Amino acid sequence: MKLLLTTLNSKYIHTCLSIRYLYSSVKDTCDSYIKEYTINESLDKIYADIYEKNYDIVGFSCYIWNVEQTLKLCSTLKEANPDLIIILGGPEVSFDSLNFINKHSYIDYIIKGEGELVLPKLIDSISKFKKHIEIDGVVYKSNELPPYSNYRYNTHEDIYFIENKDTPPIADLSQIKSPYLYVTEEEIENKIVYFETSRGCTFNCSYCLSSTLKGVRFFPLESVKQDLKKLVVLNAKQIKFVDRTFNSHKEITLALIKFLKEIDNGKINFHFEITAHMLDDEFMKEIKEARYGLFQFEIGVQSTNSKTIKTVNRIDNFEKLSVRVNQIKKYGNIHQHLDLIAGLPYENLESFKKSFNDVFGLLPEALQLGFLKMLKGSPIRSQVELFDYRYRNYPPYEVISNKFISASEILFLKEIEEIVDLFYNSGMFMLSIEYIYINNYNNNGFKLFSDLLAYKNDYYQNKTLSRDDLYKLLHEFYSRICPDETNKIKELIRFDYLRMGRNRVIPLFLRNDLSSITREEAVAWISNDYIKSELGYPNSHPMEIIKKIHVELFEFDIIDYIKTKGNLKNHKAIIAFNYSGEKDFMNKVTFTGGLYEQIKN
Ligand code: SF4
Repeated sequence: MKLLLTTLNSKYIHTCLSIRYLYSSVKDTCDSYIKEYTINESLDKIYADIYEKNYDIVGFSCYIWNVEQTLKLCSTLKEANPDLIIILGGPEVSFDSLNFINKHSYIDYIIKGEGELVLPKLIDSISKFKKHIEIDGVVYKSNELPPYSNYRYNTHEDIYFIENKDTPPIADLSQIKSPYLYVTEEEIENKIVYFETSRGCTFNCSYCLSSTLKGVRFFPLESVKQDLKKLVVLNAKQIKFVDRTFNSHKEITLALIKFLKEIDNGKINFHFEITAHMLDDEFMKEIKEARYGLFQFEIGVQSTNSKTIKTVNRIDNFEKLSVRVNQIKKYGNIHQHLDLIAGLPYENLESFKKSFNDVFGLLPEALQLGFLKMLKGSPIRSQVELFDYRYRNYPPYEVISNKFISASEILFLKEIEEIVDLFYNSGMFMLSIEYIYINNYNNNGFKLFSDLLAYKNDYYQNKTLSRDDLYKLLHEFYSRICPDETNKIKELIRFDYLRMGRNRVIPLFLRNDLSSITREEAVAWISNDYIKSELGYPNSHPMEIIKKIHVELFEFDIIDYIKTKGNLKNHKAIIAFNYSGEKDFMNKVTFTGGLYEQIKN
């Protein structure tokens, strides 16, 4: 039997963890293959690619982002080859599976829940042409009812759809083979690699599927370490841990953090979801000295409204969380992405603004706005009537409105999300947007982005904004509200522009005649041994270095401002941007600089 395990990822850069687990589980016993596509590819091309390889069985991993396209693909594949056996698995088909298979009759089998121990048994039964599949966790079709008990069924046109009883979560995770047994360097090159050290969650947030399974199970630490080491050696760029709370078990977390520091190859990044209010001093001590960019944290706040948090069964402590987030920010070596969810109970627009302001006030590297998804199987679905939830009846089942927030308010927040992504999360305006916030919108980040949105809608409506347009928009916006600061913001935006490292030709609106520097001056400055080594060219001739960098003069002491975040002092600064060197973790060019007066003397 020739088996393909596949999925449609949401982006090219993503990889799928689940099909790798499944592949490892059957590779020894079956002629199996793995292939990933994306939802942005043409379905016809994917169909042709699969059809032409003459597989006997194709298994798809189904999620909210791909289930609709996957079903279209399955239907076409079955029309083209009625003998093809189609198996679906994943969260999108693990609930209401009996009706699902009944509705989509081109599906042959569904595996509900964790599939690693089920798939090998199912493939074995299929290859033995077994009529009745007495395997827990499997849903299938038959022209007669099975001889065993303990199943549910429904029928349609003489076909019986049989749902065997559920499999409990795999208690001993050492039974599962590593998903990276057969991984190659090519397969993960420039991709995000997903990894888990545990399954399950200690919390019970009502909008989350993880809340439906009780308790946390851990993979054996030694095999986790072995796999992580292998991925680092294979030059994985970023490893994202999908553990629901990476720091749920103190000893294991500490052991892993220490280990990850040991295997650091100087360029890898490890991304975790952590519960910040649970971080302790030992953990903080361990991360404090980590290399810049080695770790990245995602911290779910979701709301700072205590009634909201209580109603969704979430356990949080925003005060403690803020202390830890501020502490990590001071370390300066770890990027923090904080999350909020709009559409939660008791969170009306005013309450959401407050949550936004509370979280934005911590100035994380990214503030990700999400919108409540009424996921199949999540407990929040039972509160639809209670809170008058209206939501899309197709994946990802995103909320439209509820008793507390109207549809137009949610749409407004969608626009805010877009503006926050453009002007904050993109990292294109790191210095300038923070300056505007601190100097004019302190404690009211929401107003900053609402005002920016209003300005964009007034002056740039219906215009597709180029990168340069965005810089121009921000400059105009701030110059209008704060005409006295026009020069300052221009200098900060110019700095942000050059740090993106894409273009040394500065657009006219950002140029400043006073800031020109002669080539001779620039060469003289970079002849200094300290500057040469700061730029990473200690042994190069200045005439060689000058070709690789961009030197710019600023009217204000930007270097001092970056260090102190105090006043932007009126002293000229000279800064060299290393356009040919390695970019930093945020994909920005590195730079070095000092006061212009000092080089003149
Ligand atoms: S939202 Fe996070 S913390 Fe809450 S149950 Fe889900 S995984 Fe656990």
